[in-house]
Amino acid sequence: MNLLEFYADPESGAWDEVGFRPFPLGPPAGGRANASPVATRLADLRPEYDVVVVGSGAGGGVAARVLAASGASVLVVERGGWIDRDAPGLTHLHNHRLTVGRDGTSPDGHPRAIPRDDGSEEEVAPGDLRYRNNAIAVGGGTRFFGAQAWRFHPDDFRMATKYGVPAGSALADWPIAYEDLEPFYDKVEWALGVAGEVATGAAGRRRGYPMPPFPLSLEGARLALAADALGWTTTRVPLMINTEPRDDRPACIRCGFCVGFPCPVDAKNGTDTTALPSAVANGAHLVSRAQVVRISDAGTVDVVQGGSQRTICAGRIALAGGAVETARLLMVSGIGNEWVGDCLQGHTYAGAYGRFDDVVVDGLGPGPSIATLDFAHDNEGIVGGGMLANDFVKLPALFLVWALPPGAPHRDEDARRDVAATYLRTGHVMGPVQEVTTRAARVRLASSVKDAAGVPVARLEGRQHDEDLRGAHTLAARAQEWLDAAGATTTWTTAPTQTVLSGGQHQAGTARMADTPTAGATDPIGRVWGGDRIYVVDGSLHVTNGCVNPALTIMALAWRTAEHLAATG
Ligand SMILES: Cc1cc2nc3c(=O)[nH]c(=O)nc-3n(C[C@H](O)[C@H](O)[C@H](O)COP(=O)(O)OP(=O)(O)OC[C@H]3O[C@@H](n4cnc5c(N)ncnc54)[C@H](O)[C@@H]3O)c2cc1C
Ligand code: SF4
Repeated sequence: MNLLEFYADPESGAWDEVGFRPFPLGPPAGGRANASPVATRLADLRPEYDVVVVGSGAGGGVAARVLAASGASVLVVERGGWIDRDAPGLTHLHNHRLTVGRDGTSPDGHPRAIPRDDGSEEEVAPGDLRYRNNAIAVGGGTRFFGAQAWRFHPDDFRMATKYGVPAGSALADWPIAYEDLEPFYDKVEWALGVAGEVATGAAGRRRGYPMPPFPLSLEGARLALAADALGWTTTRVPLMINTEPRDDRPACIRCGFCVGFPCPVDAKNGTDTTALPSAVANGAHLVSRAQVVRISDAGTVDVVQGGSQRTICAGRIALAGGAVETARLLMVSGIGNEWVGDCLQGHTYAGAYGRFDDVVVDGLGPGPSIATLDFAHDNEGIVGGGMLANDFVKLPALFLVWALPPGAPHRDEDARRDVAATYLRTGHVMGPVQEVTTRAARVRLASSVKDAAGVPVARLEGRQHDEDLRGAHTLAARAQEWLDAAGATTTWTTAPTQTVLSGGQHQAGTARMADTPTAGATDPIGRVWGGDRIYVVDGSLHVTNGCVNPALTIMALAWRTAEHLAATG
């Protein structure tokens, strides 16, 4: 057993050695929920629905909920299956935060392609970093997400006006403003459930959050004092997690592993536990392990499951396959203009670690506790910026890979001694840097690689804009300053030194909204330019991807488009 396997193995004694406690407050009482929303068999689907939603993640789940509640007949098609917390293959080494060799959950048969320098294509699987995976599951990314539930900053909607358009970029303003989305942020926060501290009456909000925040963590308390000393403003991290029982589901039991895994007690409010069950209860059909392979603006949806295929008729089609797959489906179907697939973006993560003399990690999940938005905008000399927060509780295996200082040994007894001594004494602050979007970072159809259904897969092209590196270094320096002020004896930054392919867990932008078809792929309500019945309700719509995590904005946009569909159906 190598050291990585040692830290991932619950039987090895490593977790006691470092002080990691998977269930610090005891095992889940009263059994576990963790049941899939009821799925319908392909053969039992109706021939026609008012709306077919492609994908069941953040956007698809919320759209289905709103449409089903309005009385529309709704079908949700999801190519992934239900992933239980104890699913075979899901381990500390194979999850959606640390993938060593293979992704523990994604089904076979959905490769992507990367261009080689000689023009040929390399096939990559979800476990390959270049796949830029989010998730393939009922609930999409929200089945595994960390549930940080941020609203975009008002300036995130007007990046070109605020900063100009950097050379080589396609930076643009959104066709809508924060104020247009505010009512829908509010609806999502209250319908799905967010815990946070902002009170009713705070600027730009009609009311506070439906649940109180988690108590400040040990690390959070240190960082709060440090921020005060630095004169920085802070806020508690809003989380789409129950801090009190809600909708027949329990409060979080503070287990030690949250991000990258389904919740053992269903206290995380992804669409898997909230919007999808609500949609199904209101009559929506969910067909899982089924893939939409083609759509038409005449309202046909071709669905395959194993060896079977059906064509379903739809009054309208709502695309929510995630930014890579939505663009791919539009291109495979020959729908949309020349913007489809362009402006693939995600977030560039940057931050810092700090080692303290005393224990600063309490190990209580989920972990993110305190944040500052002081560096989200108006940083001298860079475009945009990002939010900084302390990180999730780290699995010991992830700690070995991520959290040792530059030059420290990662193998053998030296590394083991180091991890044992520092696991509970290492603080970590990081955040997502807003990427400057370009048309060269894009999704195209592969010429030589097909999926198990025989459909050309997505080929991911291009790199991030150089500006993203400058933003990352600025944010990392602020993170280091915060940890220094908190009393860390050694600190070091983490920021990329070169641009890479964009996308990943925060993928967005490939069917961006615009006032005219010359500037984007969809109109300001999400209807694909050039089509009558086809709408986008996922992260593809984002013109820019914000200074914070994207899921709440994806959900708010989906709610807004779904209300439009319900009103005009
Ligand atoms: C480990 C992890 C942590 C994260 N943490 C956070 C966080 O703390 N806060 C935050 O805001 N965001 C977080 N995210 C990101 C967040 O989950 C995504 O931004 C969000 O889920 C994207 O929503 P979406 O609707 O665009 O697509 P997705 O949620 O990716 O859903 C798309 C779904 O469509 C399905 N699909 C695709 N094509 C087809 C097809 N042709 N037919 C049928 N089904 C199809 C896919 O299988 C997938 O399930 C995290 C993601 C991961 C993986
Ligand atoms: S920390 Fe996360 S996974 Fe663990 S119980 Fe709480 S919400 Fe669920």
